[in-house]
Amino acid sequence: MLELKGVSKRYAGGELALNNVSFNVAAGEVVALIGPSGAGKSTLIRCINQLVQPTDGQVLLNDSRLELLKGRQLRMARRQIGMIFQNYALVERLSVMENVLSGRLAYVGFWQSLLRRYPAADIKYATQLLDRVGLSEMLDKRSDALSGGQKQRVGIARALMQRPALLLVDEPTASLDPKSSRQIMRLLCELCREQNLAAIINIHDVALAQQFVSRVIGLQQGAVVFDGKPEALSEQV
Ligand code: ADP
Ligand code: ADP
Repeated sequence: MLELKGVSKRYAGGELALNNVSFNVAAGEVVALIGPSGAGKSTLIRCINQLVQPTDGQVLLNDSRLELLKGRQLRMARRQIGMIFQNYALVERLSVMENVLSGRLAYVGFWQSLLRRYPAADIKYATQLLDRVGLSEMLDKRSDALSGGQKQRVGIARALMQRPALLLVDEPTASLDPKSSRQIMRLLCELCREQNLAAIINIHDVALAQQFVSRVIGLQQGAVVFDGKPEALSEQV
């Protein structure tokens, strides 16, 4: 599904932010990416979605080399990548439903979305997703009226709306209390299994990650220093 081969990144004037990173993630596999601040986690996520161009190496998504794509081809390829953010990145004044539908913006087109003409099939799928994440009572609520946990559920439904193959998840629980954090991690892992999605979750709470994921990748100074089952991580540390 996702394959990184010898990916390195050197920012202008800086030292290596990523140093020869290689790993594969299979469909249905959820990976927690851990490591101290400055280890290169964000850079790695950005090299995968091509917000940052790697200095060296290859990023393959379903056998297509993302680092070689440009313009329209890159936008098409990116549609396979769903993003979920720490701060949810919702449009606060829009309803829950509209936020989820906006996951399809790239397909529906900006003007149709302004006119709020969404295809019936999209509305149906959005309704199903919102039901699945436990928000079926909240479709018409403005998203700024939601709790943090509910906002993140909207963020998850929006990402799934584009029917991605891969989810990139940046600190999904950093703004949540412990109970909501566990619920969100459980939901994310269940959905990936149900939909056969690969996911990389950038997370600093190692104990939380260990509770839910089957694989942990540890980064330190830009290099992979651990790749294995969470149990093995506890033995090593
Ligand atoms: P993490 O997400 O694990 O905290 P980052 O990927 O943000 O790590 O950072 C990795 C290294 O790259 C750090 O040394 C950081 O200072 C550097 N870095 C990150 N972004 C930039 C940038 N835009 N320009 C220059 N250096 C950067
Ligand atoms: P268009 O120009 O056709 O509107 P975009 O480039 O805005 O398309 O978005 C195309 C796809 O790229 C979207 O499905 C979205 O998931 C993805 N995408 C857009 N911005 C980002 C981003 N900052 N990080 C990751 N993926 C993104």
